[in-house]
Amino acid sequence: MRQIINHSFDAIPKSYLFSEVARRVAAFREAHPDRKLIPMGIGDVTRPLRRPVIDALEKAAEEQTHAETFHGYGPEQGYDFLRQAVLRHYAGFGVTLDLADIFISDGAKSDLGNLPDLFSDQCKVLLPDPVYPVYRDSNLMAGRDVAYIAATRANGFAPLPDDSLHADLVYLCSPSNPTGSAYTREQLKVWVDWALANDAVILYDAAYECFIRDDLPHSIYEVEGAKDCAIEVCSLSKTAGFTGMRCGYTVVPHTLAREGMNLHDLWLRRQCTKMNGVAYPIQRAAEAVFTPEGMAACKEDIAAYLRAAGIVAAAMDELGIWYCGGKNSPYIWLECPKGMDSWQFFDALLEKAGVIGTPGSGFGENGEGYFRLSAFSGEENARVAMEQMTAWLRSL
Ligand code: PLP
Repeated sequence: MRQIINHSFDAIPKSYLFSEVARRVAAFREAHPDRKLIPMGIGDVTRPLRRPVIDALEKAAEEQTHAETFHGYGPEQGYDFLRQAVLRHYAGFGVTLDLADIFISDGAKSDLGNLPDLFSDQCKVLLPDPVYPVYRDSNLMAGRDVAYIAATRANGFAPLPDDSLHADLVYLCSPSNPTGSAYTREQLKVWVDWALANDAVILYDAAYECFIRDDLPHSIYEVEGAKDCAIEVCSLSKTAGFTGMRCGYTVVPHTLAREGMNLHDLWLRRQCTKMNGVAYPIQRAAEAVFTPEGMAACKEDIAAYLRAAGIVAAAMDELGIWYCGGKNSPYIWLECPKGMDSWQFFDALLEKAGVIGTPGSGFGENGEGYFRLSAFSGEENARVAMEQMTAWLRSL
């Protein structure tokens, strides 16, 4: 039969996790219009943009009103002023990159979904389970088979490869959404050595690197050999509250090659064909994030989110609930108490404590029996949510 539509869309779960959460919350609100609910499931930031960023944005917007300073289409990989700032940011982790390696993007999600364009449809994709659904759905949409490596309590939700594992393209996220777990340098080295031995490519999602406080790698390029096997995607969404601004950066080392083809050149070719860059004022605002004043302001916001995460983590400690994350991450990944499955806990927490979270099973099979709480809701919400959750669980 003639098919004109991409039927690979049939392979994607129909109900997007957050739509189902929204549906259940809406039904609850309708039945209980007087109940105040605390949103502890959100992945979006809640703190506003900081002054240095807005000043740069306003200045650049003003420039756009004068013929002498007007900017039209920008350079394909982004303006050098921003790419240089990104290079300096990496230098802060002891990572030396080449200016050519940096591509400015409109955020991490687009690049994570588009980078598989460089790979054939026979390419074997490996994802951790549980996983940020974008990695899975964008590969399923393209008709690729996807295999999983189990992230479990036994491996601290930070799975490692062994010699029996074979794949061509692997997505890693550290600190992880949804589990908040983060790889050590030694663990990342295991992945890099495995990728080099298997000619595999790692797509490394560092969207939450700004939450790292312990001595953990902020970038996969802190590990020797990574420039020969890894592409890194990062974003200002969580670093600087840019979820509504849309700006990130992707590192494709200019020497990274497979089968005689240079992946940097392929990505440049792909981006030049399908993307026309990020708005000039947004790139100026992004540049301001990397100034000392900009970074100091953004770090205050990150510290506030981490204090909220600490409130949730302390409540879990007190309740004796197993969890990971919450230290170098805004997410706390907990085991559902009393043997409840993820959706049972979601419904009970909503009804009995008025707290909205995210069921772990929505991120993959291994997420069943687990639950994600987010610190983006802020300290006050975290405090009240934990008081209500503690009171409910103690009453059982
Ligand atoms: N990667 C992970 C793991 C995320 O959780 C998110 C957003 O929540 C993104 C990427 C997307 O970031 P951006 O806003 O830059 O598209």
